[in-house]
Amino acid sequence: MNASTTAAERAATGRTTAITNIATLVTNDPSLGEGPLGLIQDAAVVLDGDRVAWIGTTSKAPATDSHVDAGGRAGIPGFVDSHSHLVFGGDRTAEFNARMSGRAYSAGGIRTTVAATRAATDEQLHANVAKYLAEALRQGTTTLETKSGYGLNVEDEARALRIAAAHTDEVTFLGAHIVSPDYADDPAGYVDLVTGPMLDACAPHARWIDVFCEQGAFDGDQARTILTAGKAKGLLPRVHANQLHHGPGVQIAVELDAASADHCTHLDAADIDALANSATVATLLPGAEFSTRARWPDARPLLDAGATVALSTDCNPGSSFTSSMPFCIALAVRDMKMTPDEAVWAATAGGAAALRRTDVGRLTPGARADLALLDAPSHVHLAYRPGVPLVSDVWHRGVRV
Ligand SMILES: [Zn+2]
Repeated sequence: MNASTTAAERAATGRTTAITNIATLVTNDPSLGEGPLGLIQDAAVVLDGDRVAWIGTTSKAPATDSHVDAGGRAGIPGFVDSHSHLVFGGDRTAEFNARMSGRAYSAGGIRTTVAATRAATDEQLHANVAKYLAEALRQGTTTLETKSGYGLNVEDEARALRIAAAHTDEVTFLGAHIVSPDYADDPAGYVDLVTGPMLDACAPHARWIDVFCEQGAFDGDQARTILTAGKAKGLLPRVHANQLHHGPGVQIAVELDAASADHCTHLDAADIDALANSATVATLLPGAEFSTRARWPDARPLLDAGATVALSTDCNPGSSFTSSMPFCIALAVRDMKMTPDEAVWAATAGGAAALRRTDVGRLTPGARADLALLDAPSHVHLAYRPGVPLVSDVWHRGVRV
């Protein structure tokens, strides 16, 4: 920058930005502020490029190239949505409508989306992922995991992962979503495909491997075989566990040091104990229970036992077609016995833990510059004002979106 550059030009191209006059800032760092959320009143955040450079009170904020006055709004880390299924074709409005008119949900509905996804072009699938990522970003989600699982053959699973990887770093191979319709009479043959040629084709495009461990999908032995094969190829495990029934999913997740056991709706005392004494996060997905009128997961015994709890949307066209983390927070507080503070932590730092990330889900010096301002004085309003679009400004990697 030369000496003749004006202040206005520096502001327009400035590398450092101060966001000041934040009524309540959630940092998720207890060393920076009050309580587990590390709350700071009348806070300021300084962003330098794509990183957080400084956190403190407005009166102590250093000089920066540009400045945004938050005007007494609350600030939170961008949401970390650690579980979604965005690479899909088609639509399941009719199924939802029928279910809300009295028909029970079963895993079989996934086959409808498999047929539509196989029939979709690459361009259609890219456009779909981009659409729902943008929708999530507008609602404050700045990190989003997404999965394959609607291809269920080598070519279409690898295609789904290539498409996902063009949009996010957090990509999960879910060839074991259900037994492929191509192998309806030979589930063992499908496990061989998933752990053999499909894994070979998919592993280069993914960070994670996942299994739907559930009656009607994959049993405990199959889940262990698939996750172990994925680990041998360098993928890290996560598990769809204990969603529709009690089963072995949570115990297998803990046994294999999975980053997360997702759903956790049907747990016994041994499952809660295993999660509390492991690095495996319990990720609760209340959009699924909402959209299927199922029993809510109960966060209270998990939290009281000391387990790490995350909240996520499970955004998918069948059982939870929401991209809204604020909606999940409101459900968790209303129906899953979480406090507003616990739910906001679970949707930010909890999601980061479920992805084994330390650079997101918190606002600390060195963290990624991902944050949202709320049109409210406090993060509690995310649960207090359900359904209201409170997220008013979002920064993602230091860029205001
Ligand atoms: Zn899922």
